[in-house]
Amino acid sequence: MSVELMVNQWIEAAHERGASDIHFEPLDKDDRLRVRVRVDGELRGIETVNDGRKVIARLKVMAGLDVNERGVPLDGRIKFSPSGGGRGGLDLRLSTTPCMGGEKAVLRLIDSSRLGLSLEDLGYTKRMLDLYRPHTQAPYGLLLHVGPTGSGKTTSLYAVLTSLNRTEVNIQTVEDPVEYDVAGITQTQVSHDLGLTFPKVLRALLRQDPNVILVGEIRDPETAEIALEASMTGHLVLSTLHANEAVGALIRLIDMGMTPYSIAYALRCVIAQRFARRLCEQCRKKVAPPEALARLVGNRPLYTGEGCKACQRTGFAGRIPLYEYMPMSDALKKSVYGETTPDALQAVASRSGMITMFEDGVEKAGAGLTTLEEVLRLTRGLRTSPRSTAHRRPTTAMPSGAAPRPAAPRPAAPVRQTGAMPRPTSQSDVVPGVRPAPTRPGAPRPPRPPGVR
Ligand SMILES: [Zn+2]
Repeated sequence: MSVELMVNQWIEAAHERGASDIHFEPLDKDDRLRVRVRVDGELRGIETVNDGRKVIARLKVMAGLDVNERGVPLDGRIKFSPSGGGRGGLDLRLSTTPCMGGEKAVLRLIDSSRLGLSLEDLGYTKRMLDLYRPHTQAPYGLLLHVGPTGSGKTTSLYAVLTSLNRTEVNIQTVEDPVEYDVAGITQTQVSHDLGLTFPKVLRALLRQDPNVILVGEIRDPETAEIALEASMTGHLVLSTLHANEAVGALIRLIDMGMTPYSIAYALRCVIAQRFARRLCEQCRKKVAPPEALARLVGNRPLYTGEGCKACQRTGFAGRIPLYEYMPMSDALKKSVYGETTPDALQAVASRSGMITMFEDGVEKAGAGLTTLEEVLRLTRGLRTSPRSTAHRRPTTAMPSGAAPRPAAPRPAAPVRQTGAMPRPTSQSDVVPGVRPAPTRPGAPRPPRPPGVR
């Protein structure tokens, strides 16, 4: 079989399986090449072939790259049409890196069919979407999505842009790289070779009368500062940030030197996201929750995947996102002026409208979309996970001599109050310039300062 045909078949097969990436890596000096695909977040082998260098060269030709340039990392794009036609074009991003034995190439598959996705298609629960959607329709402010690489942040933000994309709205983006190509949106790619950095492009596009701005990622203080400023001066700004949980976005902004004032006034909400494996619909079945977990999930029924032919005996097929939603409530705005340890901020957020990833996961597990084990696996180590709370709350309430049982989650622990810390309530707690939230029920709400929703 020709190398051309082989490469096409790998791409088609990977696309069929819903893979996100294809890896091509030289194994040895004998020019053998291993091909693997990432499906549902896990790497799986396809095959090992000879003629590795020819395969890499073919990929570089497809991406319009110089096949003779082997000593430096390269990036390129491929527009691929599956042989059967049908499902339309597939956007591929190729990256190569020199390594022992030659070059390693990774193809990222960008399914343009995900482009048409609306907010409703993204796996938000109705409850969360009802809370989140008004932020996306606001005339100004900052919306942040956080999560690990490959957690669907860009797809989420593009769904918002798609919902706003009409003649009356000028939408501009600065990205590294531009992942989706969308008509009606001005997209600019940063280029370090040309000196087109995030801050530089962002400053330029602010002079172009934008309504909505997407900043691919906030990585440095300068970008953060411009993004916050833009969102306080009549622009809706969408961006991503590297953090594991929603409260981490606040910590990052504070670490980057952003003032409490700009964070409190600019930020509308933070969404943290990551993918869970979706239960196979062919073989999932109801199970009674294990006794230790029953109260944790409110005695809801749970599901498991028995494994069948359709899911290759894994019990899972595809992925479902889990989300954490953290609105910048008045209480949270106030607290960024005060004690900004992660625990303190988390405690305030939990008391003022946050839906944690664990809660979202339990809801989805109860709906048969994934398993509780999967939710626990993904939220382990997060500030809001039941396990980490059990771990962090030491032995104060333990009778002497009783050892904590680390393995079992504490079924009775109310998730809402995890990590809650006693909070001072004296007047010194109130920072000048910030209006305190009313403390008496029924007390009239003070008028909001300008720039705050
Ligand atoms: Zn199955």
